[in-house]
Amino acid sequence: RAGIASVADIVRCHAGRRPAKTALYYEDQILSFADWDERSSRVANGLIAAGCKPRTRVAYLGKNDSRYFEVLMGCAKSSIVLTAISWRLALPEIQYLLENFDTEFLFIDRDFAEKLEEIKAARPDFRGIVVMGGNVQGAESFDAWRDRQSTVDPKLPASPDDVVLQLHTSGTTGRPKGAMLTNANVLNSVRHTESGELGEWSTRDIVLTPLPLFHSGGTCWAMYAPYVGAANYITREAGSPFILKALASASITKAGFVPAVIQQVINDPAFDRSHTKSLQIVGYGGSPITVDLLRRAVKELGCGFVQMFGMTETTTMGTTLLPQDHDLDRPELLASCGRPLHDMEIRIVDPLGNDLPPGESGEILLRGGSVMKGYYGRPEATAEALRDGWYHSGDAGYFDADGYLYIRDRIKDMIISGGENIYPAEVEQAIADHPAVLEVGVVGVPSEKWGEEVKAFVALRAGQTVTQAELIAHCRSGIASFKCPKSVEFVDALPRNPSGKILKRELRAPFWGQREHTI
Ligand code: ATP
Repeated sequence: RAGIASVADIVRCHAGRRPAKTALYYEDQILSFADWDERSSRVANGLIAAGCKPRTRVAYLGKNDSRYFEVLMGCAKSSIVLTAISWRLALPEIQYLLENFDTEFLFIDRDFAEKLEEIKAARPDFRGIVVMGGNVQGAESFDAWRDRQSTVDPKLPASPDDVVLQLHTSGTTGRPKGAMLTNANVLNSVRHTESGELGEWSTRDIVLTPLPLFHSGGTCWAMYAPYVGAANYITREAGSPFILKALASASITKAGFVPAVIQQVINDPAFDRSHTKSLQIVGYGGSPITVDLLRRAVKELGCGFVQMFGMTETTTMGTTLLPQDHDLDRPELLASCGRPLHDMEIRIVDPLGNDLPPGESGEILLRGGSVMKGYYGRPEATAEALRDGWYHSGDAGYFDADGYLYIRDRIKDMIISGGENIYPAEVEQAIADHPAVLEVGVVGVPSEKWGEEVKAFVALRAGQTVTQAELIAHCRSGIASFKCPKSVEFVDALPRNPSGKILKRELRAPFWGQREHTI
């Protein structure tokens, strides 16, 4: 991998060294590194011919598709910034991002063609719109557009500091912001495949990539395989039917999941353990995982696990909990998200910015080569998040004496009840231990007496029953009574964002009305 100095060099390098090697499996298509190299050069030339200049932005609005990778590398080769937009957003939210990110060209999936007319009407200034995966009246199809472009790599200069990807934070805390990730950020991130901190990677890997590519967890995970010259197996969505089909039809060696996906897969009646024999590593992260789910996953999937803690703003990098730390006989480590990556500095600070010793909780700050350049068009938000090179995560956590990090929760989700700080994640762990509980979300709701009080939303496993009083009593046996919920509401399912995070905002909203939950 010597000579890889930019994201575009990843495909160039392997197309040179192993042109016929499979780079991407997607539905009935198999793309070699040479195919990917050629197609991405065509995309680059198509964008240049449409008038897109280096450092301008193009948008991808679509489900997972091999064409996303052609676009990503096409943008990288032409020094154009790719911004992938969540297809789960409502049209006004999509329009907000297209407008605020100053996007000039749109790649849109055939599945969202019904949005096309309104997008066109709002953005007559687009330099081009092409539709992926089918023909739609009034727009050229991606395949036809790509195939009429030149195959010559434009080889535009790319510096480490050039932004290559702009991913919007999913907005669990408000309006999405565009985190600008540079060539250096992405290369720094993928090089962890060589340090052993993401397990052992090789050209022989077939890497399952089911998470949405508009999220850092999807796209950043998807960059590891090409970096090492291995193949990505892309599924269109992250639901368990897609994943079970992939496990049944290919010798998947690595898979990138979030806890909600792991839960779906191992709970699916169609899950077949004999299809996970080739699986070596499951990488997971993005939201807290209960120790109970993790234990079950380790037993059911029977492979190594690597937990990752990080965020869009750090190109998903931060800490990893290695396979050897997933030791069912040392369950205390299962509650940790691991130790900082070798090139990532992590501090825990109090609200005044003073460093805290092991065992004391405070805000988690991160500094290293994967930390973003800033938020696009948001200098104030950038200055707030990045201070002296330290990214202020808004997550609370603590280190133990051995340097393992434990996430308590998001600071903004912390509940202050009767003057006591309560981290919902701890309460969720205590409730999730109950065998009838499938999933749980805990929030603070207004209380005359305590300021805030703890409320739990619980979905039960099929066929199970438990009362509010029984669940509260169960909690009391594990955690201090002031942390236990005052009320439990039973729901069919919890609201989650596409990366599986519980939308606490939505759970809180009906109780707070116009008032803000502020910490
Ligand atoms: P927003 O920044 O708008 O709230 P978001 O939270 O969805 O959006 P992401 O970058 O997708 O932004 O998620 C990063 C967050 O996910 C982290 O700050 C942390 O709260 C949580 N997270 C990531 N990995 C883990 C993990 N291993 N364990 C617990 N929480 C995690």
